[in-house]
Amino acid sequence: MAQWLNATVSETIHWTGNLFSIKAKTGPLPFIAGQFVRLAIDGPEGRIQRAYSLVNPPDSEYQEFLVSTVADGLLSPLLQQLTPGDTLGISQPATGFFILDEVPDGDNLWLIATGTGIGPYLSMLATAEPYQRFAHIILVHSVSNAADLTYKDLIASFVAKYPEQLHYQPIVTRETYPGALQDRIPKLINSQQLQQQCGQLLNPKSQVMLCGNPQMITDTKALLEGMGLTKNLRRNPGNITVEQYWK
Ligand code: NAP
Repeated sequence: MAQWLNATVSETIHWTGNLFSIKAKTGPLPFIAGQFVRLAIDGPEGRIQRAYSLVNPPDSEYQEFLVSTVADGLLSPLLQQLTPGDTLGISQPATGFFILDEVPDGDNLWLIATGTGIGPYLSMLATAEPYQRFAHIILVHSVSNAADLTYKDLIASFVAKYPEQLHYQPIVTRETYPGALQDRIPKLINSQQLQQQCGQLLNPKSQVMLCGNPQMITDTKALLEGMGLTKNLRRNPGNITVEQYWK
């Protein structure tokens, strides 16, 4: 049975009309970067809860979540209305296997996300582990519109700290944006455009994490398998580790 912490919302960031972050004060919580908790709000019909990845690194005083409002969703429209001082339920302990401990070593590490799928990577990139284990790390973030490119300043601070190791590649599919590519991930990989833009190979010596839109994961995984990469399973280690945000 999960235990629940009552956390106080300390800050909200509204990136767009349906994309926002919530920061809540809890004191340091034990978890591994990439894991998720459940967030909950008590409504007249009972407790509404849903899983969200932690964006912050372990041992932070504040826990942070990146949320996209699902139009007919039960919890996200309520989360969007939270303001500092409101109470939010956070389940303990955090769980999940979308963590670097599960990823074998490789020549490079591709962290590929759509939308809010960037959250777990931000937690990982704030820890020392990726930089200790991988010579090159490529963070790829695909969004429809440039306004959905969340956490650009935080990412820039990571790149400034590890300029030789970390490459950030935004993709904005529905408008042109300086420095961004403009096609969907599988097409950019298949044409080698993504690899050329990032100056990195994507081959069976790579490790790839995929997070976000389920169809992006299915399509990208199939393409990578055609390139000789294999799904990473505990009983049979491979190259592709996935986290689906919704079915
Ligand atoms: P999205 O539709 O997944 O779009 C983000 C990026 O992924 C865009 O660049 C998009 O390209 C690209 N993409 C979409 N399908 C793809 C595919 N098959 N292969 C490669 N790339 C693909 O994500 P979003 O804008 O963050 O969210 C869209 C909707 O999903 C929202 O309305 C939200 O309600 C819902 N959502 C639900 C949950 C949940 O947990 N239930 C979580 C997050 C989001 P295009 O611009 O070309 O489409």
